[in-house]
Amino acid sequence: MEKYDLIIIGAGPSGLTAALYAGRAGYTMLMIEKTGPGGQIMLTDKIDNYPGFEDGISGFELQDKLYKQAVKFGLHMISDSVISIKKENDLFIVSTLTGKTFTSISVILSTGATHRLLGVQGESRLSGKGVSYCGTCDGPFYRNREVVIIGGGDTALTEALFIAKFAKKITIIHRKETFRAVSSLIKQTTSLPNISFIMNSVVTEITGENEVNGVVVNNIKTGAIETLKTDGVFVFVGLDPNTDFVDSSLLDKAKYIITNDKMETSVKGLFAAGDVRSETFRQIVCACSDGAKSAQYAGEFIDEQKGNSYQ
Ligand SMILES: Cc1cc2nc3c(=O)[nH]c(=O)nc-3n(C[C@H](O)[C@H](O)[C@H](O)COP(=O)(O)OP(=O)(O)OC[C@H]3O[C@@H](n4cnc5c(N)ncnc54)[C@H](O)[C@@H]3O)c2cc1C
Repeated sequence: MEKYDLIIIGAGPSGLTAALYAGRAGYTMLMIEKTGPGGQIMLTDKIDNYPGFEDGISGFELQDKLYKQAVKFGLHMISDSVISIKKENDLFIVSTLTGKTFTSISVILSTGATHRLLGVQGESRLSGKGVSYCGTCDGPFYRNREVVIIGGGDTALTEALFIAKFAKKITIIHRKETFRAVSSLIKQTTSLPNISFIMNSVVTEITGENEVNGVVVNNIKTGAIETLKTDGVFVFVGLDPNTDFVDSSLLDKAKYIITNDKMETSVKGLFAAGDVRSETFRQIVCACSDGAKSAQYAGEFIDEQKGNSYQ
């Protein structure tokens, strides 16, 4: 069994920043990531609110910079999915889907979150056949075509702005009277001529035989039901934390990990950072900040365990 000072699970902005700080401080570490580096930022075209890039930066480019910077300070990443963590005799035992087991003095959980499904008829059958959860990936397929976007938060409106570069017509359907998104995004989307809005409404079915051809829309105020013709449906209705393998005693009601200000969970030596944390502002800059703090306090914990405390 390979043994490390620190295992970081998840290579999104929080995990990569944790790796940068831990590597720079000289700790031995392993990062386990189930897809590739970047996490959710790989799903977004342009990031305008990460400090230091006055003209914005693409998700791919930011991922590339974060990853290379962490590698420079010793990041070693393997591709695998973590399925369990146990603590035995002061060591964490981390097991993966491919049957590997690693041990460490401390662990940082930076597994982020995954888009939520709408849960209506037609959605899973037509997923990849007109139903999408990533505007950056699939928006360009809808050049001069019509799409529906479901959702009313920052992600829905940000993605609408991107897809609007291609689509002839976008209809945003939101179940509330007003949007949850920040006012600058609302201003931008409402000013575009190819975006229209249906408020107080939910999509109850996505229709089409082999590809999407429409959505059934239910106005929850009036009860009116209409079928809207569309070529594609983008679903942005929130996130679920990636915590299936985390003990339920560490989670809040929505299954996010509870930590204190030092990113510590209730298990000594086990930290969490980024979107996977309970009650956090789910943004890249906050994920990076969490990553830095988790590495700092994990480092102090590792030093204590090794008897290296300099305080
Ligand atoms: C479409 C979109 C647009 C966005 N735009 C912006 C924006 O403009 N500005 C902004 O600040 N924020 C934006 N965000 C939010 C931002 O991307 C997140 O806040 C940020 O990525 C969170 O980073 P994280 O490291 O905590 O988690 P994530 O980015 O979710 O990364 C978690 C990583 O953990 C991995 N993982 C999960 N489970 C396991 C497991 N069991 N084993 C191994 N690996 C695992 C995942 O594969 C993933 O790579 C956007 C999000 C989306 C979806």
